[in-house]
Amino acid sequence: MYPKLNVNKQKLAHNIKFIHKMAKDKGIDICCVTKGFCAHPEIVDVFYENGIREFADSRIENLQKINYVGIKRYLLRLPMISEAKKVVMYSDMSLNSEIETVKALGREACRLGITHKVLLMIDVGDLREGVRPENAVFTAKEMCKVEGIKLFGVGMNVNCYGGVLPTETNIGELVNIAEEIEKECNVKLEIISGGNSGSVYLMLQDRLDRRVNNLRIGELVFCGAETSFQQNIEGMFQDVFTLEAEVIEVKDKPSLPIGEMGLNAFGESVAYEDKGVMKRCIIACGRQDISIDNLFPINQAIKKVGSSSDHTILDVTMVEDIKVGDILEFRLNYGAILSLTTSEYVGLDIK
Ligand SMILES: *Cc1c(COP(=O)(O)O)cnc(C)c1O
Repeated sequence: MYPKLNVNKQKLAHNIKFIHKMAKDKGIDICCVTKGFCAHPEIVDVFYENGIREFADSRIENLQKINYVGIKRYLLRLPMISEAKKVVMYSDMSLNSEIETVKALGREACRLGITHKVLLMIDVGDLREGVRPENAVFTAKEMCKVEGIKLFGVGMNVNCYGGVLPTETNIGELVNIAEEIEKECNVKLEIISGGNSGSVYLMLQDRLDRRVNNLRIGELVFCGAETSFQQNIEGMFQDVFTLEAEVIEVKDKPSLPIGEMGLNAFGESVAYEDKGVMKRCIIACGRQDISIDNLFPINQAIKKVGSSSDHTILDVTMVEDIKVGDILEFRLNYGAILSLTTSEYVGLDIK
C-alpha cells in the first residue's frame, strides 16, 4: 500500500540505545515521547525492547495504548478537567499548572484509592504552559494540600511556542525554584525535568545543571538531531523514517498556470516562477497526509513544485527514466512523521 511510511527498526533501536546510554552516564533519566508517531504499538515495542521504561505523551488515548509491566507513563499536555478520571487511571504522573485541575485529579485518585503524581510546570519564558516563576511556590503549596496528589517534581518546556532556547540561565532558574519549593513546602522533589530534545545540546556539552535528572525526548530519537540548533548528532541516524509514494502522472508542462488567476484550493494566492516547460510528475499523496515543506526527495535531482489535498507535484526535468507506477522515496522531518502517522491513508512498514 502506498504511500508507505517505512520505519527502520535497527536504526531506531540504535538511536534509542545511543541517547539512553549517553543520558544514563550523565545521571539523567530519559522519558521517551510517543506523540510524534501516535504511540503506534509496534514502534513503542522497539523502545521497550531497547530498555525504555518511561513513556510520555500529550494524549491520554495514546498512553492508554502503552501497556507493559514495570513502566511509568506521563501525560505531557495539561489535563482537561473532563478527562481527570482517565488521567489518573492511565498515567502515573501528569504535568500541571492549574490548581483546579489538580483538585479534580485528586478527587478521582481518592475515589480509586491511589495517589497521582504531579509535575508542576514552570514557565521560564517560552509562554506556553506553566506558572510564572513568582507564583511557583504559592501554587506548589496549594498542590501539596490536595488529597490523593503527590507533588513529585517540577519541569520546564521551551523551544515550543516562543522559540526560546534552553540555557544555563533559564534551567538555573528552574533549579532555584525547585529548591525554594523544597524548603517552603518541606518536600523532596524527585524529578527536575529540564525540557525536551532542545536541551540535549547542553547535556552533550556537560552544561546541564547537576540537579536536572530528567529530559523528555521525542524528536531527537527519530530525527537524530538536537532541536535547538538543528545539529545532527554524530553517531545517530537521521533516516529512521522514510516515505515511499507512487507516481501517477509524468508529463511535460509549462511552469506557469494557464488562464485567469484566482486562489488555490486552500484560499491562498500563489506566485509562480516561469522556468519554461518542465517534466513534472504527480505522486499520490498530499496535504491530508503530509505538508510538502516536510518532505525531502532522496534523489536530489527531484525538486518540489507544490501540493493540494491529495496530490504532490514534483519537477523531474533532471531525472531520466521516470514513469508512471514508479516509487519515489523521501526523507522526513518531525512534522512529516507526525502527520503521516495520523493519516489513515498511509501504510506503515516496520522492518
Ligand atoms: C512534545 C513535548 C516534548 C517532547 O519534545 P521533543 O522536541 O519531541 O523532544 C516534551 N515535553 C512536552 C511538554 C511536550 O509537549
